Amino acid sequence: DNAQPKKPSWIRVKAPGGKGYADTRKIMRDNNLTTVCEEAGCPNVGECWSQGHATMMIMGEICTRGCTFCNIATGKPDTLDAFEPGRVAHAVQKLGLNHVVITSVDRDDLEDGGADHFAQTIRAIRHRSPATTIEILTPDFIKCDDSALEIVAEAKPDVFNHNLETVPGLYPEVRPGARYFHSLRLLQRVKELDPSIFTKSGIMVGLGEDAQAVRQVMDDMRAADIDFLTIGQYLQPTPKHHTVDRFVTPDEFATYEKAAFGKGFLMVSATPLTRSSYHAGDDFARLRAA
Ligand code: SF4
Ligand code: SF4
Repeated sequence: DNAQPKKPSWIRVKAPGGKGYADTRKIMRDNNLTTVCEEAGCPNVGECWSQGHATMMIMGEICTRGCTFCNIATGKPDTLDAFEPGRVAHAVQKLGLNHVVITSVDRDDLEDGGADHFAQTIRAIRHRSPATTIEILTPDFIKCDDSALEIVAEAKPDVFNHNLETVPGLYPEVRPGARYFHSLRLLQRVKELDPSIFTKSGIMVGLGEDAQAVRQVMDDMRAADIDFLTIGQYLQPTPKHHTVDRFVTPDEFATYEKAAFGKGFLMVSATPLTRSSYHAGDDFARLRAA
């Protein structure tokens, strides 16, 4: 049954357009880069790109996983492009970003899960744009040994983000191939390896979870020393994807946000249109200035 609840008035997005949007698009095309903004059909693309905020997706456009909420193609991935870190760094410099978010598809086919490619991308950005803070949003490296995480942590991203995506009870239907406690442990391990790296995670709501389970996820995250939290409404990318169970109201989001700050997160974004990378730079700059 693919019947969806009707989209409420608070899920309203501006159609993309304007000069800033076109400029960002051109920089992405000129450097032959893929963005999660486009691939995932993110509702915030108009707003983010008008400010040059694009989240680049490295290691190809094909993922080895098939999460049921995600619009990225699943299949046999592309060969790694050794020049990609340089092109990402070039684009970051062109965009003149204070903060950049880099994500990737999941590469279960690679022995290090793409850890070295992430590290090279971080280094290339640092080299060209030393003042830009770097946030990475990584896969779970579930098929790799601990050295994969060490390789990424050694490159010292400012923020290490990995999304739990949903409550543990929904993993089998939402995130097949992933393990809730593995993902939690991954973030805890980053903190152990380098306490100067901020850790971040997020979930989508409206997939069928209840509020009690969401609060439990917050507690689990804090127990794993996770610093930042994002919570946003799940939107179905196409009718083939997981159905929207319900639209969580702005008031409920505000309640989640309050609860999360109460549990000790340093930074929380919980609104219907919150995405992992939404306003990530502004929030991080505010935190650093505080
Ligand atoms: Fe891109 Fe993130 Fe903005 Fe969406 S919220 S358009 S994914 S930068
Ligand atoms: Fe999408 Fe990430 Fe899942 Fe791959 S691992 S299907 S990119 S959410």
